[in-house]
Amino acid sequence: MDRVPFFDLKRQHATLKDELMPAIKSVIAKSAFSGGEFVEVFEKQFAEYCGTKYARGCGSGTSALHLALLALGVGPGDEVIVPAHTFIASAWGISYIGAKPVFADCLPDTWEIDPRAVEKAITNNTRAIIGVHLYGVPCDMDALQKIAKKHTLYLLEDCAQAHGARHDGTMVGSIGAVGCFSFYPGKNLGAVGEAGAIVTNDANVAEKVRMLRSHGEREKYVHEMVGYNERMDGIQAVILSVKLKHLDAWNKRKTEIVKKYVEGIENPAITFQTIPENVTPAYHLFVVTVQNRPTFIEHMKSRGIDTSMHYPTPCHLQKAYASLGHKRDDFPNTEYVADHCVSLPLFPELTEQEIERVVEAVNSYA
Ligand SMILES: *Cc1c(COP(=O)(O)O)cnc(C)c1O
Repeated sequence: MDRVPFFDLKRQHATLKDELMPAIKSVIAKSAFSGGEFVEVFEKQFAEYCGTKYARGCGSGTSALHLALLALGVGPGDEVIVPAHTFIASAWGISYIGAKPVFADCLPDTWEIDPRAVEKAITNNTRAIIGVHLYGVPCDMDALQKIAKKHTLYLLEDCAQAHGARHDGTMVGSIGAVGCFSFYPGKNLGAVGEAGAIVTNDANVAEKVRMLRSHGEREKYVHEMVGYNERMDGIQAVILSVKLKHLDAWNKRKTEIVKKYVEGIENPAITFQTIPENVTPAYHLFVVTVQNRPTFIEHMKSRGIDTSMHYPTPCHLQKAYASLGHKRDDFPNTEYVADHCVSLPLFPELTEQEIERVVEAVNSYA
């Protein structure tokens, strides 16, 4: 029997072949490769999708976070609070600008950033909080917004895993000061290479990101600030315009699959992520925890099911951040998830038979 792959982008691209190739050709025909008209079209579409006034394409999700912090004026000596349980790139932008990432633990049930841990981490140097909608499940934006307001901090949203998710009916990315997105190929909305974007209602931030991503210029060859080369490619933009039309259907299908998993899996060894009632996730990953992870992964493998882990080493215990002086037990909830998480296959093109095989394999684990 064929294996059930953890993820298979080839299936998605097979269904889109007739749309993607002509789109790429149109960019080549106009030589609009770096920034340019196709990027502007996508920016308009994506801002409308997110319900913000502005979207600015850039080179990656990592650069979106970096440029957003720069545009807000966060800098050396400042502290930015970010969850310890996330993909490491949530923190890179903070380090790039010479600020200090201050990690906060996650909640024990939703596995999203714990607002009370955030409040405890605030010092006189804190300038911003980055809320991450991990796995596509919105973090507690109500609580984070209250904290940000009370302490006059910027609230950024790392939406790299959550394109199309809603919090109290509002699109993620449009809630905080800036929403940062990744279009890495495997994300909910993926390019055919590297790409990212920021969305915001703040004209000043939008204009600053526009300049920062392109050598600090507003006018060609007039450099008003030290800038970067972090423009979005025309080919990525046109692909994203094609795929954006399918995003809601893909999110819906993944929500159906998650429902089948949650309803079908009956195994006391398996714990699901708790989903708050006021959110509509745009599932990027389906993550469970299990006490004895190695035997579970081995069992799934023997049943032909591929799995993954997101993420096995939390940010505060990475060598890259050794200088912060963290040790084990600093963030117990984060460390528990890191030590016990397993991601099951989740992508829209999974077949009913594959979904059933995953459920049966999980249920037969003892
Ligand atoms: C993917 C990801 C990023 C970085 O995006 P890239 O486009 O890969 O640079 C940042 N934060 C989170 C939570 C991510 O999953």
